[in-house]
Amino acid sequence: MVGRECAYLCAMNMRIGFGFDTHRLVEGRPLMLGGIHIPHHLGLLGHSDADALLHAICDALLGAANLRDIGYHFPDTDPKYKGADSKLLLADTVELLHQKGYRVGNVDCTIVAEAPKLNPHVPQMQMVIAPLLQVDIDCVSIKATRNEGMDAIGHNEGMKVYAVALIFKAD
Ligand code: MG
Repeated sequence: MVGRECAYLCAMNMRIGFGFDTHRLVEGRPLMLGGIHIPHHLGLLGHSDADALLHAICDALLGAANLRDIGYHFPDTDPKYKGADSKLLLADTVELLHQKGYRVGNVDCTIVAEAPKLNPHVPQMQMVIAPLLQVDIDCVSIKATRNEGMDAIGHNEGMKVYAVALIFKAD
């Protein structure tokens, strides 16, 4: 039955994918999230610009297309990606999907962060991300929640992002 349901979705040329990313928050780094700079006294640490939201979206898209993961395509051991703008990684990811005949349907993301307040920045993130995915702004959902003071995220040691994506065959 499960196989039949999967075949039914494939016949509709739709697939879903899930992505997750987490990065530490440290001093001395700009906070890049959703392709924009957010004023904050801490920033995400990583080989690239450490934009956990864009990375989670990349992995959701790659997962939907069964194209491995972001580390497979953009290894953090490659000096080419040191300090890289993750908007370029997302654009390259969308191109990989296009090469396999897929287009992005929509994405839905949840950022888990204690601070700063992210909801005021969501519209700007949507405006940056939608053209990278080549979709309408209405197809980019970004939600933010706190971890209620619990665990490492709740103690401002880092952020987590979860993302799901729907893709479909263009023809
Ligand atoms: Mg990452």
